[in-house]
Order: sequence, then structure tokens, then C-alpha cells
Amino acid sequence: MSQGVELLISCHCGAAKQTVVLCAQPGNPSDVDLCHCHACRHGSGLLCVSYTSIQKPPRSLGGLVSYQDDSSPHAPPAVTLYHYFCDTCGCHVFRHRKASALIDSEGQSEDDEVGTWEVATGIIVGRADAGSATIQAGDVEVGGEGGGEEPLLRFARHVNTDSTKDGGLSPFISLVEGSKLEVSETRNTSSITPPPSTGEREVDDSDDVLEAYCRCKAIRFRITRPDASSRLPRSGFPDLTVPFAATPREEAGNPRDEKWWLRAEGRAADRPARYLAGTCACGSCRLTSGFEVQTWTFVPRSNIFFLPPMSPLPTTPTSPSSLSPAPKPIPLDFAILRQQGVPLKGYDSSPGRRREFCPSCGATVFWHDRWRPDLIDVSVGLLDAAEGARAGSWLRWWCGRVSFEEEAGSGRTGEVARVAKGLVRGLAEGLGRWEDGMGGLTKG
Ligand SMILES: [Zn+2]
Ligand SMILES: [Zn+2]
Ligand SMILES: [Zn+2]
Repeated sequence: MSQGVELLISCHCGAAKQTVVLCAQPGNPSDVDLCHCHACRHGSGLLCVSYTSIQKPPRSLGGLVSYQDDSSPHAPPAVTLYHYFCDTCGCHVFRHRKASALIDSEGQSEDDEVGTWEVATGIIVGRADAGSATIQAGDVEVGGEGGGEEPLLRFARHVNTDSTKDGGLSPFISLVEGSKLEVSETRNTSSITPPPSTGEREVDDSDDVLEAYCRCKAIRFRITRPDASSRLPRSGFPDLTVPFAATPREEAGNPRDEKWWLRAEGRAADRPARYLAGTCACGSCRLTSGFEVQTWTFVPRSNIFFLPPMSPLPTTPTSPSSLSPAPKPIPLDFAILRQQGVPLKGYDSSPGRRREFCPSCGATVFWHDRWRPDLIDVSVGLLDAAEGARAGSWLRWWCGRVSFEEEAGSGRTGEVARVAKGLVRGLAEGLGRWEDGMGGLTKG
């Protein structure tokens, strides 16, 4: 079966490390879709995800958790869809589709042989035969790029953008390496129907809340509008706004104690209405999510309130509006949440820096660190704003930079590194055009 190219893959912790065989032939690159559907956003915590087909089955599913998602638009009638993500670091690894009729009658090992398999593109390291490639748990270090490899993959299309209402991340990524990405508004067949669009919502007063939930709804929380408590945290600047590599340490430490996570544009200066949001291409975000671009918003802990997991988990998906009336929300305190049985799972991607994900569906949820415990990075893909996936009435998108843009190809080799860097460069350029041409504030 090995006519295709053998690729190395690894998640951040290394549990998923193995080789896979790409279906694409060298010189005839596979077109990769960036999917923006509701199921992919809430299942990953990102605004879009990407997979490419591999020859079946993978060598190992050891250390991975499967999540069955029957109402995803990626599971047509009579097909069952499984996501596989790493039990340790939460990284999405494989997507497996098979005819539902085969499931009851066959054993698990035979099941793995049927249907189609895809790998998350963010965890592809490079060609397995790229001589210098070595990968180690939590520390993917591979030398070199280029080497005259034939093209393998090509980011070609945005799909399922209709369910975002505002295009999600797609308007920011219009040109990649000089080629325009197609936008295919494939009808989202998910039975989770977002509430009707209210168009560009006016920024509202204080007591409205922004709902957030993962795909399986084990993780549900609410974000409140910025208030007096939102100004209390102290934090250095994020790499998003002040690149670490190019800034003296004392300057990056925010010596004037600016409350950079609060964005006051369009409001009286003393009543900030939005939280800063931005994109990140760092290696840790990529290898703990499985995909090329993470999207974070920075929210004070005092503005995040947890709802108990939906219990029992619904067998038929529920519309977001039916989440109310809600039980009493719990203020975000990680120790208390664990006592109360909220099933967040933590993974330290480096000492003092913790990522939280849903252990049931694998969605990324939070990033936080021990130096600024009261300001939390929240995965934007979980948000359910009425105006659309970018939550324009709540978030002000930073268009000046992709955080850690320089890491897009790090730890990767050859064509895989080149294509990843091209995508992130396209995103950075698109953000710049968006800021210049349309105004990040008015278009959100
Ligand atoms: Zn892992
Ligand atoms: Zn999707
Ligand atoms: Zn979940």
C-alpha cells in the first residue's frame, strides 16, 4: 500500500508520535480545506481546522481518546464519525469516518480497517525519509526546510463558512502564496442550528453575557462584559502585541501597567466594551490543538463563570438558546471547578504554563500561567456570539501581528514547513489588509 509518502506526525507530548502514509502522491499535492463549521469550531476551540487523507488505518491509536460525533456535517447520513485526540495533551490527531452499519457487526480492530482516515495537518512534522528528522516528546526539533521536495499539500479552500455568519477566520486568509483561497459555503447539515442572525449588533450595556461551550457541552461557561474587576489583573504584554524576540524584557513586562486586554474603541474611555483577541501560530498551540492557527481572547478570571456540565449529555443536540435557564454559574477558580466535578483536563505545555481541554471531545478551552493567574486566554472557537464566530461585539481583533508567526514552520521540515509558513504569512498579510482596508473595529 505504500505508494504514498510516509510522514512523521507527533502531538505535543509525543504520545501520538508515529508515521502515516499520505494519500496524495508527490508532485500532485492534496488540496486541504480549512473548515469553519460549528462542529469543528466547538470541537477544537479554534475558528477553523484542517485535515488531509491518509492510507488506513493508522499504525497506533494508543494514548488517544475517541469522540463519536454523529451530528457533524462531516458525518453524512449512515456514516459515523470519530475524532481521535491525545488523552495527555488534548491534541487532535485523526478523524475516522465509516458506514454506521459496520459498527455493530464488527470488532474494533476490523473497524479500524474500514472507512476513511484523515490526519490533522498541524501535527505533521515532515517526510519520514527526511534524513535529519528526529522527534522527542514535548520537544519537536527537526532541522531544515526545503531540500527540493515535491509539493505534498496545498491550502486551497474555506468550507462551511456559512455557519460562522461573519466568515470567521476566512476573510483574514484570502491569499496564500499568491493563490486565492476558494470559499465554499457548503450548507451546514448539523442539526445544531445557530440562532437567527441579528446582523451587526450594537454594543450593548452591562448585563448581557457571552455563552461558550465545547462540542459535547461537558464544558460550558459564560463571559461577562468588562467591568471594574477587569482592570485588576496585572500582566506583561502578550507576544501578539509586543513581540518577545524583538523587545527588551523590561518593556515587554508592561512597566506602565497598561490594561491591554481591554479595548475601549467606540466607547467612553472609562467603559471598555471588548476584550482583545488574536491569532497564534506558536508550536505549543499547534501541537496541543492539532491545527495551524489557534485563536485566543484574553479575559480576566473575574469575568468568566462556569455552568455545570449538561447531565446527562444530550443524545440529540440542543440549540444554544435552550441552554437557559441555567443553574447558578460558578466563578472561574480551577481548584473549585475540579472539586465540583467540572471535567477540565490540564496539561503543562511548559513549566508554569497550563492548557485546559475537554477530556470528552478534545476541545481546547484555556491557557493560563502562574505569573498572571487572573488573566486567562480563552479559545475563541467555543464562543457563541449572536453576531458570528468572530464575536465582533465582544472582541477586538489584533491585526498587527500573528503571535509567534516565526514559529509556523519550526520543528517541521521540507514541504510541510514551507506550506505551513505560507499559510501563516497569508494570515498575517490578510490581517494587515483587513486593518487597512475595512477597519478592524467596525467590521469586528
Ligand atoms: Zn499528546
Ligand atoms: Zn467542519
Ligand atoms: Zn467537550
